[in-house]
Amino acid sequence: MEESLATLLAAAFGTAGSVTPPIVQSSLFTFPDYGAFAARMAGQGSAPIYTRVTNPTVAAFEDLMARAEGGEAAVAFASGMGAISGALLAFLRPGDRVACVEHVYPDAYRLFERLLRPFGIDITYHPPAAFAEDPDLLQGVRLAYLESPNSVKFQTTDLARTAAHARRHGCLTVIDNSWATPVFQLPLARGVDIVLHSASKYISGHSDTVAGIVVGSTDHIAQIRSLTLALLGAKLAPFEAFLLTRGLRTLPARMRQHDAAAALFADRLARTPEVRALHLPVPGPETGLSGRAGLLSVELAEGVDIERFCNALDLFRIGVSWGGFESLVMPAKAVLAQSPEHNAMHRFGVSPQLVRLSLGLEEPEDLWRDFAQALRKAM
Ligand SMILES: *Cc1c(COP(=O)(O)O)cnc(C)c1O
Repeated sequence: MEESLATLLAAAFGTAGSVTPPIVQSSLFTFPDYGAFAARMAGQGSAPIYTRVTNPTVAAFEDLMARAEGGEAAVAFASGMGAISGALLAFLRPGDRVACVEHVYPDAYRLFERLLRPFGIDITYHPPAAFAEDPDLLQGVRLAYLESPNSVKFQTTDLARTAAHARRHGCLTVIDNSWATPVFQLPLARGVDIVLHSASKYISGHSDTVAGIVVGSTDHIAQIRSLTLALLGAKLAPFEAFLLTRGLRTLPARMRQHDAAAALFADRLARTPEVRALHLPVPGPETGLSGRAGLLSVELAEGVDIERFCNALDLFRIGVSWGGFESLVMPAKAVLAQSPEHNAMHRFGVSPQLVRLSLGLEEPEDLWRDFAQALRKAM
């Protein structure tokens, strides 16, 4: 798969011999005569009308993402949260129930609790393994919201079994595939209905864009485009779509490098006495993943001073987000210090000794040296 994906993403589709797509910086698109305009208004053809709904540069990115995930169609949004809220609000109605994985991305949790619940949608949270193990968990559930691996703890779900149970119960399945990317996991091929991404992470790959994308069947994507993209209006800008298309071309090569760094860290962390727990899924049939992304978390022993550890790091910088060139550390302790209300880390239970690492594209041995020296200084 990886070879063909890399080849697919490198395909030239510019104009006049250019190897990059043009940035079509136009809000509207005109028609040659009344008949052409009237036909388009009547729903014929797919010529762009207005950039809130369709734009050629954005469409080039959408088309690549649909092909990368093996879906029929895709629709881009201004952020990952735009994609998540756009996908969910297109299908949920008051009285519906959502079953969600524990340790879901914190702002997805806030979307559920602060916005969807007050609109009359019920949400229940379950350990990732339960979706496959309990064949009746999705009975009466309108939509299953999955992350495999999930945020913070990086626990996985058996997607094929979950999708089979969901189908029997008439439940729609949605997965956030930001961690694995299509390089390491293709959820649609396992029967999941809708795949979405925060394209701000690995799809962009350079920490210079905030964006989201949803991939699925023609019908599902058309519903999202006409309802939540058009009516809530969180569309992706043409320039950002251009950056994302550029990012996609190096995605397989970058993921190979992240995998190598994560494998090195997994091996060394397992032999580090101050590491109480390592949260990083092992690739293979058990997890359904064909490689390791560079995002993992570790729980450090009680004797390790988290503040000193973070401040002693040199290559790893302190910050949120992940998936770019630079390595980052995010200490749970700082997030737990926020108000516990609507705080997913409080809800699902996370140790203040947990730190999340985003291994970037620096030399893995340099990153390990940095981690090890900071740990020594923090004890
Ligand atoms: C960052 C992130 C999001 C939200 O994406 P934005 O582009 O920041 O809106 C969603 N899911 C996961 C797993 C993320 O890490």
